[in-house]
Amino acid sequence: LVSREAKEEDSLVTVGQTVIGGSELVVCAGPCAVESREQLLAAARLVKQAGARVLRGGAFKPRTSPYSFQGLEEKGLQLMAEAAAETGLATVTEVVDAYSLEVAVQYVDILQVGARNMQNFRLLQMAGRAGKPVLLKRGLSATIEEWLMAAEYIVSEGNEKVILCERGIRTFENATRNTLDLSAVPLVKNLSHLPVIVDPSHATGDRRLVAPMARAAVAAGADGLIVEVHPDPARALCDGQQSLNPAQFAAMMQELRAVAAAV
Ligand code: PEP
Ligand code: MN
Repeated sequence: LVSREAKEEDSLVTVGQTVIGGSELVVCAGPCAVESREQLLAAARLVKQAGARVLRGGAFKPRTSPYSFQGLEEKGLQLMAEAAAETGLATVTEVVDAYSLEVAVQYVDILQVGARNMQNFRLLQMAGRAGKPVLLKRGLSATIEEWLMAAEYIVSEGNEKVILCERGIRTFENATRNTLDLSAVPLVKNLSHLPVIVDPSHATGDRRLVAPMARAAVAAGADGLIVEVHPDPARALCDGQQSLNPAQFAAMMQELRAVAAAV
């Protein structure tokens, strides 16, 4: 169902006024994790001001260590809804299990299935039945075929609104957090009609590399980006080292306009 053979024309995923997969480059931005009302509203205002369309914010965080900040859960999702109401931004948040999905559908527009759950097939089926667009990240070590099969699990439940997200894969290289597989963008756009976006934040793990890789992703044909932005990255409870500060995000958005106009 997700292949180009099944459907020749590009699929568009519409969220409110925003169309992902069409002519407009759609940028999703916000903090890795929702930390407080003050932090989230500041982030929402600044990303909106710079031209983002979708606010990201994790409330159920899949952390490597059980001692790391795990997220504000439902309280965080209430803050996402409040930030959306104030700014008009659409929202995306990660779901990790049946409970978080059940809560998230009440508050956000797009459900994110993260890299660690890309082959959680029961979760994919539940996301497929939830009736909301799903942002499906590529697994840490997933092949393109495995990733597209994961999308097939969602679409086969009757939900065509899937956005694929390349977020870097595990390789021998440890100078960056992951290795951004940019070739996945044109390849997957050839193999599938689904929109493809890129996450340069998790792909690199280093804020200095985020804007250059964002520009490269757009040049390679990505339909959008998902970028971590924090009002004060030094104080972030999660992924501060890869989060852009407000000025860096605004500068990146400005540069992207020139690249988008050229492709
Ligand atoms: C995230 O977007 O916050 C996240 C945890 O991403 P990934 O699943 O790509 O690691
Ligand atoms: Mn993160």
